[in-house]
Amino acid sequence: MKNSGLTESQLFDILKEIKKKDTNYSRVLSAMCTHPHRIAVEAHMMFIESNMGDSGLFPGTNEMEHCVIDMLSDLMHGQGVHGHMTTGGTESNIQALRSMRNFSESSRPNVVVPESAHFSFDKIADVLRIEIRKASMDQEFKVDIESFESLIDENTVGLVGVAGSTEFGQIDPIEDISGLAVENSLPLHVDAAFGGFVIPFLKKDYSFDFSLDGVTSIALDPHKMGLGTIPAGVLLFRGEEYLSNLQTDTPYLTTQTQHSLTGTRSGGAVAATYAVMNYLGKDGYIEVVDYCMDLTEKLVEGSYRIGIEPLIEPVMNVVALRIPDADLVRKILREKYGWMVSITRDPRCLRLVMMPHLTIANLELFLQDLEKAVKD
Ligand code: PLP
Repeated sequence: MKNSGLTESQLFDILKEIKKKDTNYSRVLSAMCTHPHRIAVEAHMMFIESNMGDSGLFPGTNEMEHCVIDMLSDLMHGQGVHGHMTTGGTESNIQALRSMRNFSESSRPNVVVPESAHFSFDKIADVLRIEIRKASMDQEFKVDIESFESLIDENTVGLVGVAGSTEFGQIDPIEDISGLAVENSLPLHVDAAFGGFVIPFLKKDYSFDFSLDGVTSIALDPHKMGLGTIPAGVLLFRGEEYLSNLQTDTPYLTTQTQHSLTGTRSGGAVAATYAVMNYLGKDGYIEVVDYCMDLTEKLVEGSYRIGIEPLIEPVMNVVALRIPDADLVRKILREKYGWMVSITRDPRCLRLVMMPHLTIANLELFLQDLEKAVKD
């Protein structure tokens, strides 16, 4: 740091130059985040200094956090649900598995997850010293329930299902996993970090939430398809007992205890989530999801036209395309045409997420470039 500061205009000239190095979302087809809604941005700025880590100082923001939990509890068909906002899916998943571990007396705890689970579960294995057992997938890239069941043993402390997998946008058979959870008296966490703001607004119904008896916690991220600001995640627990085993005393704060993993938490992200959910309502989210599913359909139709097939018929706005040399095509798309796409791990397919920032005109341009990149 220099002794004397820059002028405002010098500083913002520098920031504008730096911003040019960042990628503009218009050609990003690999991200699960997007431009936050303008209402969310405004609300975030209004509560920018608010810290949910010391919520007694910010009772207004605290009230908004309770409202967000109530609205999402309702959306997830819960009653008496407890929870809190997090920084996103990773933290929510850590907290859910921490709660499972704290409940159990096993000295060698394991949790069974689908092979398609987000890499945050690998971090959890390391941080919490829990063995993560990965069940194999079926032909449709949902978890195979027999493989899942075979991994449960006396040291299993919990189960995880994914509703909206990161790579394939697939929904696991949560109903069947819930049956296993009840049968084995185990908690079941549903990772709906991406799907939580998509599945309830799809035309087709899927059972994945607290309407299933076995589901004890759900992660869903406003900062993904919820159009909130980063960092906004939400973790919901079916009952207080799952949250209370995460409690820590906080002697020098305005509140006596805390359940969250992080101390300081963004009140801005709370306000943004509260604002955008109230502004859009369910009808607004249905429109957003309809738009993304329309893009998804157009992408799949356009791909078939150029001889490329999807790995599975998309369930939500995530598409995996079967392309012989997907890594090379990804490189060409990026270097020659400026498109950011990603690759699924197994099998190696081109992975595309149809987020609200993508326009139909840009999608058509993408399809033209994809055709050229495949032939290159
Ligand atoms: N879970 C799922 C299903 C996800 O798709 C993601 C991220 O894409 C995460 C968890 C992690 O979320 P975050 O990056 O917000 O921590």
